[in-house]
Amino acid sequence: MYRHHILKAAASAAIWALALTSAQAQLNSSVSPLVTYNEDLLERIRETAKIIPGNSPVSINFTKIAESHRTYAAVIEGGSDEPFISARTAFQVLYPSASVMIDTGMDETVHSFYGFGREEPFWPEKNELVQQALRGASLIIVTHEHGDHIAGVLRSNYRDELALKTLLTKAQVETLLTNPQLPEIGLASGDSSHYLIVDYDRYLPVAPGMVLVKSPGHTPGHQMVYTRLANNEEYLFIGDIGWLLENVAGPTLRPEATSERIGENRQAIMAQLIWIKQLMDHHGIIIVPSHDNDLLNRYREQGLLGDLE
Ligand SMILES: [Zn+2]
Repeated sequence: MYRHHILKAAASAAIWALALTSAQAQLNSSVSPLVTYNEDLLERIRETAKIIPGNSPVSINFTKIAESHRTYAAVIEGGSDEPFISARTAFQVLYPSASVMIDTGMDETVHSFYGFGREEPFWPEKNELVQQALRGASLIIVTHEHGDHIAGVLRSNYRDELALKTLLTKAQVETLLTNPQLPEIGLASGDSSHYLIVDYDRYLPVAPGMVLVKSPGHTPGHQMVYTRLANNEEYLFIGDIGWLLENVAGPTLRPEATSERIGENRQAIMAQLIWIKQLMDHHGIIIVPSHDNDLLNRYREQGLLGDLE
C-alpha cells in the first residue's frame, strides 16, 4: 500500500515519468527506463491517426470466446472475494470495405492453461467466428504476446495465411522466442520471419484512424491501440494494463502477488493507468480493457460495441 500512495502522490504532482528501480528493471528488462505518458502524447497520437490516408473505421465488433473465473481480490488491490468474470475476447475494427483485428482468441488447449486445473467455459463456435474474422481481415494486431491474445494466429489451422498479415513488434517476438508464457505459443527463430515485424519507440500509425501506443509493463511487448471512428468517437484498447475499468478509475494495480506471478513491471503499469485515467476522465475517450465482462456488456448495450458475426 505504501508504494501505491507514493505513486498516487507522484501523479498529483504531475510527474508522469517514473524511473524504474533496478529490482523492477530486472523483473522486466525490456522496459526502457523512462516511458513518458502525458497530454502531449495524446495530441501526437491524434495527429498521427490522420497520417494514413483512407476512410475512417465505422464501427467495432467483439466476441467472447471463453471465461476465466477469478475473484476481485485476485484482479485488483483491496478487491473483495466476490467472483469476477474475466472475458476472453477479440475485437474487429470495421472499415467501409476492410477490417482490422485486435487480438486473436485461442484454442481450448491454451484456454485450459488459464484454468489452473479447473474446467472453465469455452465456446469453440465463437473461436471459429474469430478465426473466420482473422481470415477476412486486412491486418491483425495483438495487444501483447500472452496466449489468450495471440494463440489464435500462432496455433491456427490457417497459420501461414494469417502470418502474412499479422503485425508483431520486435519485443513481442523476442518474448515468444526466449520466454513464452507457455510452451504451446513459443516461436522457433525460423518461424518469426513469416510475420510482419516492426519496432517503434512510442507510437505508430497502422491504418486510417488507428495508432499503436507502446506500453511495456504487463509484458515487454505490450501495446495499446488508439482508434478514431468516422463519428469521431475515440477508443483506446488497453489490453491487459488493467483487467477491469476499476483498475483505471482508481488508478489501482493488480495485487502484488498477481503481478509477481506474471512478472510484470508495476511502476510502468501505474504510469500507464494514470495516463489512461486522464484520457477517460478529461478527454472522453472510451477505454476498452480486454477482459472486463460487465463493462463490455455495458458498451454493447450502449451501442459502442457490436457483436462479431
Ligand atoms: Zn489477457
